[in-house]
Amino acid sequence: MPRLPAALRLAPLVLAALCVAQGAHAQNPAVAPAPAQVSPEVDKAFTQLMASPAIQKLLDAVKADHERSVEDLKMLTEIEAPPFKEHKRAEAFLARMKALGLTNAKIDAEGNVIGLRKGTGNGPKLLISAHLDTVFPAGTDVKVKERDGRLYAPGIADDTRGLAVLLSWLKVLNDNKVQTVGDLMIVGNVGEEELGNLRGMKAIFRDHPDIDGMVGLEPSPPGAVLMLGTASHRYEVTFQGPGGHSFGAFGQVPSAIHGMGRAIAKISEIRTPSFPKTTFTVGTVGGGTSVNTIAPDARMAIDIRSDDMGSLLETEKKILAAIDEAVVEENKRWNVNTLSVSTKLIGDRPGGRTPPDSVIVEAATRSNTAFGHKTLLRGGSTDANVPISLGIPAIIVGGGGKASGFHALSESIDVTDAWKGAQNSLVTVLGLVGVQGVNPALLPKRAARSK
Ligand SMILES: [Zn+2]
Repeated sequence: MPRLPAALRLAPLVLAALCVAQGAHAQNPAVAPAPAQVSPEVDKAFTQLMASPAIQKLLDAVKADHERSVEDLKMLTEIEAPPFKEHKRAEAFLARMKALGLTNAKIDAEGNVIGLRKGTGNGPKLLISAHLDTVFPAGTDVKVKERDGRLYAPGIADDTRGLAVLLSWLKVLNDNKVQTVGDLMIVGNVGEEELGNLRGMKAIFRDHPDIDGMVGLEPSPPGAVLMLGTASHRYEVTFQGPGGHSFGAFGQVPSAIHGMGRAIAKISEIRTPSFPKTTFTVGTVGGGTSVNTIAPDARMAIDIRSDDMGSLLETEKKILAAIDEAVVEENKRWNVNTLSVSTKLIGDRPGGRTPPDSVIVEAATRSNTAFGHKTLLRGGSTDANVPISLGIPAIIVGGGGKASGFHALSESIDVTDAWKGAQNSLVTVLGLVGVQGVNPALLPKRAARSK
């Protein structure tokens, strides 16, 4: 689906910015600076928000809640949450949500924790989320350690900080009786990392077709707004033949490894566009029995990614064709028909982009300005891929704190002044859903949405 116009115009900036170092979790480098101007409507709403004494009081409450929220962060971090085993952490997050007044919260069939904080009615429904899962396997030491002003523990930044920020927002909104216009759907979701394949978000958007937008929290530097969802497909490819003695069976049987080698040679020559950035790699290979055996089996894993779904599918088609051709050639070489291949899709993340001039990106940009940050638009593979691929406006922003070492055992976060990031992203959310007596909701209700 070639749905690129607004972002395409950013092409030169994208190419210029590609050498910037890796930033937030699973995110690409900066894509481009956001347009400096936002629409007058967006500007006005945020001017109203920042001038409101009630909102200033709310933001003070975010700061005052900082220490307590760090306790939530430590508590949740120390409950391990490997992919497909998020349940214990989900229960703890649910208990905190209920204790903070969201009594309708529950765990859905997929394992997501979902609570709805109702607006005044007739407003948009905004999903605000952080993911429960980490990349770390069961048994990893998740005890939080404090050193040189930083908190160290696997998963503490990605994405437990996001979970703690959601709880803090819920507390201050309730304590200060802030009535939003739109509904806030507050979610701790499963399945963001790797082979989780975004199963949590896929289930949420399947079961709740009335969601109008999404703001996800992930560790990100101030000003970063992820609006581009890099799509990916991953394959496991297995070649199988009869095998045989390297000397005795020579000339009579094809080699699974030789066949795979032919395939890899063909794949290596495939050309992909640099914009939209489209990539592929044979990431792992294996197979064979011994040095003096014509290999009966060989396997490889392939990763294909693109910032555009159409380009991804085109590359995928070429790769799958190359694999089939390789098998034909290997069989033909020995005049046999005994080498076969099977391919299995093991990773499937949809993608696309939220236009830079959409209300949701402009809201984040204007909120960043209010907090003194320049906005940098980014891409990556996150929970936002799901709504973005459905044409539902979605962004990922930071929740405060200086994080490093994502997906490594040395992961850490410096939470000094982290409340500033929590304030900044909360203001983005409030601009989108509107606050009764302060500002109207900016996020449009989707015309096409079905009940
Ligand atoms: Zn993450």
